Amino acid sequence: MTIRPNSIEARDTAFHLHGYTNPATHLEIGPLVIERGDGVHVFDNQGNKYIEAMAGLWSAALGFSESRLVDAATKQMQQLPYYHSFAHRGHTPAAELADTLVNMAPGNMSKAFFTNSGSEAIDTAIKLIWYRSNALGKPEKKKILVRNRAYHGVTVAAAALTGLPANHASFDQIVPTLRLTCPHYWREGLDGETEEQFTNRLVEELENMILAEGPETIAAFFGEPVLGAGGVVTPPKGYWAAVQKILKKYDILLVADEVICGFGRTGQMFGCNTYDITPDMMTLSKQLSSSYMPSSALLMNEHVFEPLMNEANKIGTLGHGYTGSGHPVACAVANETIRIIREDNLVEHAANMGEYLRAGLNNLSDHPLVGEVRGVGLIAAVELVTNKESKTALEKVGQLGLQTNALAIENGFFSRPMMDAMAFCPPLIIQKTEIDDLLGRFEKTLDQSL
Ligand code: PLP
Repeated sequence: MTIRPNSIEARDTAFHLHGYTNPATHLEIGPLVIERGDGVHVFDNQGNKYIEAMAGLWSAALGFSESRLVDAATKQMQQLPYYHSFAHRGHTPAAELADTLVNMAPGNMSKAFFTNSGSEAIDTAIKLIWYRSNALGKPEKKKILVRNRAYHGVTVAAAALTGLPANHASFDQIVPTLRLTCPHYWREGLDGETEEQFTNRLVEELENMILAEGPETIAAFFGEPVLGAGGVVTPPKGYWAAVQKILKKYDILLVADEVICGFGRTGQMFGCNTYDITPDMMTLSKQLSSSYMPSSALLMNEHVFEPLMNEANKIGTLGHGYTGSGHPVACAVANETIRIIREDNLVEHAANMGEYLRAGLNNLSDHPLVGEVRGVGLIAAVELVTNKESKTALEKVGQLGLQTNALAIENGFFSRPMMDAMAFCPPLIIQKTEIDDLLGRFEKTLDQSL
């Protein structure tokens, strides 16, 4: 593409450092400028239309033109555009959202702490878990159990929990983490190993690691009910029940990272509902506000909250909080998002549309480039391979994914390559005809990738 002088493309290339982008390549090719959205579609500044089959970043649950969210934001902007939540200050949107979240979440939650991004919610969870260990007179109880290919964000602490290579290469780590095998049966299962045996092996690995490190040194296990950015990895049979049993046995907190799974994505309101998980803490973001405003929350049960409260009472305050915690406009948008998800039965709709999408993707299983189709609810991935036997793609891992992604954009839809897997996570409002359109474009893309 030629970048015209003084165009948006030229200004972006000159001044904007993009996350998750190769800055050197960006100087050559510039940005794809997205100008407007309508339902599940977005349009670039050349007038090209794309099916946003990732809902942005797994996040715009209600698509790109929900006027009720715009109205909720406008009304709140006019009434009280900003206020904070320090020093006992409160306002209606934050109190309403805290009440709604605590009462709709599984696991007998007790309190909601507001943050602005998934990473901040994870950071806050780590800080409060360490604070709690100190409060309980267990200052050595600090290590965090995480899985390979997990994604928990990019702030200094959250990035340490994330288990993807690009988030660690040349970055420094400060959190003591213990890494476990990614629960991906298709990729990590041994020859001849059944799914149940795979689960048992992972649970044994977990227990052995706890015993080797000393349970008294381990504070928490962080896990996405379905690993998202690591490749849409659904857990093997019996995994979450067995993991929870071990964590209980050794007094280790369970933090469910629902930043992607929350609010209907897995076909039930939370990933924890889908997999019968009873967490001590939950992190929420993305679909919480349909991402129309940055917003996130950390929920905790009484078992976590009580020691925190006692410690903060001794000190005189809980020394943590953000200027934007419980931002009134973000909370108003989140409240309206949850109302729409409930009123329009979008959780059930997502379950039905997800089944339809996965059936369509499964129809492509015999395609020479399709290694595995996986997913649950309205989140799915197709693992691309060039050799089905060895489950390998091109020589350079991720190259086939990148090539296919470039073709997908040319063919008018946005997926997301995760190494050599293509992800699908469309807005919850997607309809069958739009899924048919997406599947047709994806099949054409696969044929062209051959
Ligand atoms: N946790 C999960 C499961 C995520 O998928 C993400 C982002 O994709 C995060 C945390 C971090 O969220 P943010 O990008 O808002 O910091």
